[in-house]
Amino acid sequence: AFSNDVVPQAPEDPLFGLMAAYRRDTDPNKVDLGIGAYRDDTAKPWVLPVVRKADEIIRNDPNLNHEYLPIAGLADFTSASQKLVLGADSPAIKEKRVTSLQTISGTGALHLGALFLSKFYRTNSKRVVYFSDPTWANHFQVFSNVNLSYLTYPYFSKKTRGLDFDGFINALQNAAEGSIIVLHACAHNPTGVDPTQEQWKGIAKVMKEKKLFPFIDTAYQGFASGDLDQDGWAIRYFVEQGFELVIAQSYAKNFGLYGERAGCFHFVTAPSSDAEATKTRVASQLAILQRSEISNPPIYGARVASTVLNNPELFAEWKENLCTMSGRIIDMRKALRSKLEELGTPGTWNHITDQIGMFSFTGLSEKQVMYLRDEFHVYMTKNGRISMAGLNTKNVEYFAKAVDKAVR
Ligand code: PLP
Repeated sequence: AFSNDVVPQAPEDPLFGLMAAYRRDTDPNKVDLGIGAYRDDTAKPWVLPVVRKADEIIRNDPNLNHEYLPIAGLADFTSASQKLVLGADSPAIKEKRVTSLQTISGTGALHLGALFLSKFYRTNSKRVVYFSDPTWANHFQVFSNVNLSYLTYPYFSKKTRGLDFDGFINALQNAAEGSIIVLHACAHNPTGVDPTQEQWKGIAKVMKEKKLFPFIDTAYQGFASGDLDQDGWAIRYFVEQGFELVIAQSYAKNFGLYGERAGCFHFVTAPSSDAEATKTRVASQLAILQRSEISNPPIYGARVASTVLNNPELFAEWKENLCTMSGRIIDMRKALRSKLEELGTPGTWNHITDQIGMFSFTGLSEKQVMYLRDEFHVYMTKNGRISMAGLNTKNVEYFAKAVDKAVR
C-alpha cells in the first residue's frame, strides 16, 4: 500500500544534513556555522545561570509532582508570557482582549495559529499567507500542512544586503484584502535584517489600509539586542494600532530551552465592545484544537520560564544573561567585520555589523560556501547564512581568512 509512487522518499532536511556532515568531519579546525543555537566562547552549549537557579528551586519544591497541565498550559507561564511580549501595562491585557495557550515551543505556536486560521479565518477573495523572501524554511511546511496556500513578499535586497523596503511595501499594497502576513518581530531569520521603527510604522500603515492580518513570529526577544522592550517594540506598535493579530512566541533561544519546547500562542482581538466575548469564543475553539493535537503541553520548560518571569530578582538576572549572549554575538560581528576589512577582502562588510540576532546573510555564493566547506571545513547553509553563535575568539580569524580566500 505504501509503494514508492504513494510515499516517495522525502528530501533530507538541509540543516540536519549539514549538521551530520559537520559531525563526520574529523579536521581539528572545523567550524560549525549552521547551528541555530547559542554557543559560548568555547563553542559549547550554554545553560543560562538563571535557568540553573530556577531548576534548583523547582527540584527543591516538596510539592513538586508530574500531574497534567491544563489544556491551555501553566497559567502563571501564559500570563507572564503575555506581559513579556505585549508589555506589562498593555491595554490589550487590561481590556481582556488576549487569549494565550502554552505550545510546543515556537513551532507549535505557529502550527496552532495556522491551524486555527485554516479552520476559522474567512476572506472575501482567495485566502493566502505571505512570507518574507527569504524566511525560516519551516514556515512553508507548517502553513501548507494545514492547507493554507502561500506567496512571498520581497524582503532582502541582494544589492544593499539590507531591507528591500519598497519591494515589501509594494507587495503589501498589491496583496488581496485580508491576506495573512507573517512577520518576524526581530532578528529576522535567515537574513538578520530588521525594519527600522520608521519602516515598521510604514508597514503597519499599509497593512491597516489593506486590512491585512498580522501573524507575528517572535523567536528572539531579548536575544537580539539584549533589550526585551526594544526587541518587542514592533509587536507592541502593531497592538497599539488596534490590529487583530496573532503571535507565536518561542523561549528556545532567549532561555536556551531549545529541547524543552516552551512556547506560547497569543490571539489579540481588536478593541471593540465585543472584544472580550470574541476572545472567549476564540479561546474555546483553540482549546479544542489543542486537546486534539497534544491534549496538554509539557511542563518542565514552562516551569523554568515561569519561575524566572515571575520573580523580580531572577528576572533581573535573566536580563543579564541575555546581555551575555547578545553581547558576545555583537562582539563577534565586530571582530569578523574588522578582520575582513584588515585583510582588505574584496567587497563591503558593514552588513555584518548592521544585521542583528543569531544569523548573518554574508552574501557568499553557493560556490564560495562549498569552497569553504571543502577547503577549510567551515559549515554553513548554501544561501550564505552563518550563525554568529558558531564564531568565537578562537576561530573568528581562521574564518575571516578562509572567507578572504574564497572571495578572491
Ligand atoms: N521562528 C523562527 C523565525 C525561528 O528562527 C525559529 C527557530 O529557529 C522558530 C520560529 C521556532 O523554533 P522553536 O520551535 O525551537 O521554538
